[in-house]
Amino acid sequence: MSKTRRSPIWQPRPCPVWCAGGHSDDHPVPDRRHWSKYRSEIRMSRYPAAERRDWETDVRPLTAEVCVGQFVTEAAPTVFLDWSGGTKDVDEGEYERPLPIRMTVSEAAAIGQALVTAAALARK
Ligand SMILES: [Zn+2]
Repeated sequence: MSKTRRSPIWQPRPCPVWCAGGHSDDHPVPDRRHWSKYRSEIRMSRYPAAERRDWETDVRPLTAEVCVGQFVTEAAPTVFLDWSGGTKDVDEGEYERPLPIRMTVSEAAAIGQALVTAAALARK
């Protein structure tokens, strides 16, 4: 027996096929976005995590994350390439990510493949 799930009141159209779902009526406006089930994380080995002087728990290595998202009022999806971790202490109390970002051939291929996969999903 299948159960049909209704869309939240703020959602004018059904979710795209790539959406992970999980929406509800009480989601605040900034959270009214479809996010893809597909999510790829690629860790950048050329940027080992550096401890921060004042925040010892921030030792996450630089990581690329690729996914697809679409705000509920947008006409088309967006492919996201976001970075997390990898902050470097550049001055007392100031942290920044390295730019330009360098990567191994395998990491470049993994990011490229993740972007191609996300773009193909976004076209569905
Ligand atoms: Zn959705």
